[in-house]
Amino acid sequence: MVVVFTTSVTRAGNMDTQALCSALLSGRTRFALVITDPGGRLVSANSAAQTLFGLHSGLVGAELTCMFTDRQRHLGLLDSEMQDALVHGGAVETRLYRHAESGIERWFEAELSPLFDAAGAHLGYLRIAQDVNERYLSDETMRRHAGIDQLTGLLNRRAFYEKIDQYVALNARAPKCVILHLIDLDLFKDVNDTLGHASGDAVLREIALRLKSVTRETDYVGRLGGDEFAVLQTGTSSLLEGGYLARKLVTLCRQPVYLHNHEVKLSASIGIATYPDDSRVPAELLRKADLALYRVKSDGRDNYCYFTEALDEKAKLHGEHVAAVREAVRLRQFHLEYQPIMSARDSSIGRAEALLRCDHGLLKDLPILEVLELLRNSGSMCEMSRWIVAQACRDAEAWRKQGYPPVQVAINLCARELSTTDIVAVIETALREHGLASTYLSVELTEHDVLDSKGTGLEVIMALRALGVSISLDDFGTGCASLEYLTSLPVDVLKLDRTFVAGLPDDAISAKVVVAMIGLAHSLGLRIVAEGVETVRQRDYLLAQTCDELQGFFISAPLNAAAFSRFRARLDAPVRHGA
Ligand code: C2E
Ligand code: CA
Ligand code: CA
Repeated sequence: MVVVFTTSVTRAGNMDTQALCSALLSGRTRFALVITDPGGRLVSANSAAQTLFGLHSGLVGAELTCMFTDRQRHLGLLDSEMQDALVHGGAVETRLYRHAESGIERWFEAELSPLFDAAGAHLGYLRIAQDVNERYLSDETMRRHAGIDQLTGLLNRRAFYEKIDQYVALNARAPKCVILHLIDLDLFKDVNDTLGHASGDAVLREIALRLKSVTRETDYVGRLGGDEFAVLQTGTSSLLEGGYLARKLVTLCRQPVYLHNHEVKLSASIGIATYPDDSRVPAELLRKADLALYRVKSDGRDNYCYFTEALDEKAKLHGEHVAAVREAVRLRQFHLEYQPIMSARDSSIGRAEALLRCDHGLLKDLPILEVLELLRNSGSMCEMSRWIVAQACRDAEAWRKQGYPPVQVAINLCARELSTTDIVAVIETALREHGLASTYLSVELTEHDVLDSKGTGLEVIMALRALGVSISLDDFGTGCASLEYLTSLPVDVLKLDRTFVAGLPDDAISAKVVVAMIGLAHSLGLRIVAEGVETVRQRDYLLAQTCDELQGFFISAPLNAAAFSRFRARLDAPVRHGA
């Protein structure tokens, strides 16, 4: 509702706007009428509003948030609803309001309308509210009993699961196909984070409406929680109908949602499992639809996928791998290999990178990146990193006792450890226990790790440098950090990613990029290491371009601690270039 004070009304009644307002507010009505200025501050209220909300004359000029609940205030509801009313006019909503004096909260049906004068100037807002507390509460109890999700009006999780149970039981004798869709909104968290929870709720309501709009009477639509929805398609004659519906749902969810002048773009991922083909057990159907959903998510979202046995096999294998990695951590079935890093100046090996290897029977042939992912997912990465730090220091101590001059050992850390400042203490203790000077330890991090560590990364880097540990930026060139960000990072060494080295020296683009990066590092006063040096031509090109250090199979593959000692023993006489 948009209220306009037209001059014809004021003239006809021979009243000005102010008088009309007072007349309106003095009328006898059980509706609470509240007028605010454009900023949401109280101008006047009728007697019902005084009784229902405690809005007495002493509050004139105060923000109307005094009749809002803490949560509404926290969500900035007043501003968003005023903006909404200006754009879309008034809409009736059921709301909890608070009595300004007693603090008692009750449910109201309320409408907020903007007020304009005849010239179109925005005068403020009129809020009309009616107490519906008793009715609302009894309806709510009913809704809860009926298994309705409060926010969207769809079935809630419990009621939806009951529907699956019912259908499975119903079809036990003469199985008809029932199709379960698990729907997850992609990146919905961003909506909540950037636009606030009230907007997030509005998006969920809109999605619920869309899901309802394309499903049939015989289908059940539920909200399982958060941004997870589900559809149970019954009465279908073919499994293909699952795909038809899922395609429609995916397309619909892709349409933008408009909220307070914001265009919110979303997409949905859908996993499908079918009864009785995939399983006759409700919990299994859910698990299988979830596996299919997971597959869609890992394949880039915004799509749907049917469950397949291959997914199940993969999930089972994953389960075995997770158990194996836990066992490997418990039994310390790991060792470190060391890849020599050669100085370009005199071909000496002053540094080595420690690389993790897993010795568990089931995992030893997996790429180490997969084992690392398993460690992260099973929550063991921090424990492993503590072991890696200690083991690297132990090996370095052993080499020193064997009489080799010390080498600097570089260990890799990832975002997870950077998020816990604990790692600084772990490193400090390990250095002390093994009598290693901090200059003989270095830490390698990627730009992603620093960015993903949510601010604590920088703190950890500073603390490590204060300790005397040097920092290398790993896989340099593959990240997406801005140059400005990069130059502000306190690091000592850049490690040029091997993808750039691979094309050297013939690939003109790689060659240009490498030259530019070496120049960039040097102009920032940093040393640069080329990774993945595999051929003599690559080495010679990099040396000609004044790259500081080289690492790669051409110098040596990673070696276990004993082999690394032997490698150094052989290097007693310095290696000559081109030898
Ligand atoms: P990265 O830090 O870039 O490590 C260098 C990787 O390049 C190693 O692979 C090494 O074996 C490989 N490599 C070395 N020279 C050459 C070469 O000339 N050609 C080619 N094609 N590859 C070469 P690896 O050991 O499989 O490690 C892969 C990644 O796993 C590492 O990449 C690192 O990011 C991570 N990683 C390894 N160990 C650890 C660890 O202890 N902790 C953490 N957080 N990450 C680790
Ligand atoms: Ca590394
Ligand atoms: Ca690297």
